[in-house]
Amino acid sequence: MIKLKTPIVIAIDGHSSCGKSSFAKNIACELNYLYIDSGAMYRAFTLFAMHRGFLMNGIANDSELEKNIHNINIDFKKTCNSAYETYLNGENVENAIRTMPVSENVSEISKIKSVRSRLVALQQKMGERKEIVMDGRDIGTVVFPNAELKLFMTANLEVRAQRRYNELMEKGTSVLLSEVRDNLAQRDFIDENRLESPLKMADDAIILDNSNLTPLQQMEWFKKLVEKFE
Ligand code: C5P
Repeated sequence: MIKLKTPIVIAIDGHSSCGKSSFAKNIACELNYLYIDSGAMYRAFTLFAMHRGFLMNGIANDSELEKNIHNINIDFKKTCNSAYETYLNGENVENAIRTMPVSENVSEISKIKSVRSRLVALQQKMGERKEIVMDGRDIGTVVFPNAELKLFMTANLEVRAQRRYNELMEKGTSVLLSEVRDNLAQRDFIDENRLESPLKMADDAIILDNSNLTPLQQMEWFKKLVEKFE
């Protein structure tokens, strides 16, 4: 357990599937902080658009989405083993938002300005009392530009694809490694090149490349890093 002198906000950004969520969850647990997976919120929005027919053949109907923006309610609930699960309008969508069809469409939905404004407002509200770890693509640049600690995580594409592939296989999803790799590369490209809040490292972020680091080594690295806040 790590005890900090004053409550802080920890913003974590980085590339797709580089282990941000696992790392963020682990440090939130050590600090007894709230953990918010902002990617899950964009994924839930995407699922909503798919179910309502606002996303056809990879093209989003921006104006219909905008009209429905306040009909979308996204929450997180703690499970008995302390993990958080994502709820869309009261329904548990934790598994549904991790499927390949959602991964293939989420970067299209997260380019839309009205979607981002709504989610950023919700995320900022969640961080009002600090003691929060949030991961995503624009957390240190847009959501919490004044966060006391900003990290930028990455790992090489092959390592990331293999990790994601293993996760999907464990869940019984049949998918090719090359499909997973292409999806990650494509999402990174769209996320880094979109007009609205593109993925980029904040000037004051600290880089963590975990290509060759175990979760334990990452935790040791983090513990050293936060000594200055203890
Ligand atoms: O983190 P995860 O890979 O689940 O995020 C899914 C997608 O959501 C990203 O590829 C990106 O398009 C979008 N996203 C975003 N801004 C965030 C978090 C996620 O645009 N803060």
